[in-house]
Amino acid sequence: MSDRALEGRHALITGGGTGIGAAAAIELGNAGAKLSLLGRRMAPIQHTAVRTGGTAFQCDVTEAGAIEQAFDEARAANGPIDLLVVNAGIAESAPFHKMTRESWDRIIGTNLTAAFECARAAIGDLLKSENGRLVFIASVASIRGVPYAAHYAASKHGLLGLSRSLAAEYAKTNLTVNAVCPGYVDTPMTDQSVARVSEITGRSEEDSRGAITNMNASGRLVDPDAIAKIILMLCLPLSRDINGAAITIDGGTSA
Ligand code: NDP
Repeated sequence: MSDRALEGRHALITGGGTGIGAAAAIELGNAGAKLSLLGRRMAPIQHTAVRTGGTAFQCDVTEAGAIEQAFDEARAANGPIDLLVVNAGIAESAPFHKMTRESWDRIIGTNLTAAFECARAAIGDLLKSENGRLVFIASVASIRGVPYAAHYAASKHGLLGLSRSLAAEYAKTNLTVNAVCPGYVDTPMTDQSVARVSEITGRSEEDSRGAITNMNASGRLVDPDAIAKIILMLCLPLSRDINGAAITIDGGTSA
């Protein structure tokens, strides 16, 4: 495999400023891809853009019309989209009987409805590309239930259904559609979960981090760079027959 296997290809990553999205940007950028990085906050996407030579586009994927506008701006800067990594996501937690409709709508809106809209906004380009690639960052919560996060698990189960359905629908084309399903990863999202657990239980941050880390069967957090390597692998032309997969990177949690 050439070190620059993605030379000149346009990769758009949502939530590209932090965590898994930033790790993916570095990996795809090192392989030669032209990067468009989307996020709500300008500072993180700009920071990653400077590190990778990419371009940052402010975009709240839940705002009406924002995805179409940002994707158009990205196309104007970097050409048609060859690789789309749908990564932007949020997590919240609550016992089910206290889960509010607002929280449900926020989670489903960001993790599922916006993912549908991103895929729809790029599908024309992806189908025209010689090796179109659509990668959804799903979760171990796409294949297992999660206590205190029914909305999150529902959104991620839905995301996997979307991914597999598109893989089946476009199987005869040059586009592949796959889902990556991580366990708990060492990113800002997990830091926020630690803070929430600490607040709810009154336990120390250290204890709460230990409790979350132990939710992975391995007893350690997943390294975001490991997920980025899998995303790169899925984006390579050689991976054209990996389609409709749900790749777990969870230290054995779903085994
Ligand atoms: P981060 O919180 O670091 O990344 C989430 C990214 O999504 C941020 O860059 C954030 O940008 C962006 N984002 C959130 N909401 C919006 C929005 N409305 N519009 C645009 N961008 C938005 O955590 P991770 O890297 O861990 O999360 C990335 C993905 O991985 C998520 O889909 C998550 O569900 C999934 N995942 C994470 C796991 C974990 O343990 N951390 C486990 C399994 C899956 P900004 O900060 O600017 O809003």
